[in-house]
Amino acid sequence: MATREHLYRRKIHFYRALYDFTFNQCGHCVESGCACKDRICQHVEEQAAQQGVKLERTTHPLRFIGPKGCIVPPHLRETCTIYLCGQAQKKPSFDTKRYDKLKRICSKIDWKLMELEEAQVR
Ligand code: SF4
Ligand code: SF4
Repeated sequence: MATREHLYRRKIHFYRALYDFTFNQCGHCVESGCACKDRICQHVEEQAAQQGVKLERTTHPLRFIGPKGCIVPPHLRETCTIYLCGQAQKKPSFDTKRYDKLKRICSKIDWKLMELEEAQVR
């Protein structure tokens, strides 16, 4: 059985790959930061705190937006990393198979991590 550390390293790796993929689909969209909401940032901050991670805030009204976008690592803001609008997914060059595969791998890792955590509290 995979250890938590191994799974967590995989989580960091694959959420980064998913982020790179979605970021490249967005390109230079004028609506960058389109789906960001303070309540999502708050949820992300609370989840990280539960894992013992203190996220630094920026001075932007959305607490984690820096000069180059969100400063939270992709694996600590899962729903934000996964999100890509319908318009971007309709581009002729959009690789649906890769997007679905990366999402599948990420959610499988999350399930396994959750199973490990549940087994520990039993
Ligand atoms: S998800 Fe869509 S609207 Fe949002 S930044 Fe990307 S292309 Fe733009
Ligand atoms: S991407 Fe970053 S700034 Fe946007 S909602 Fe998620 S955590 Fe907040």
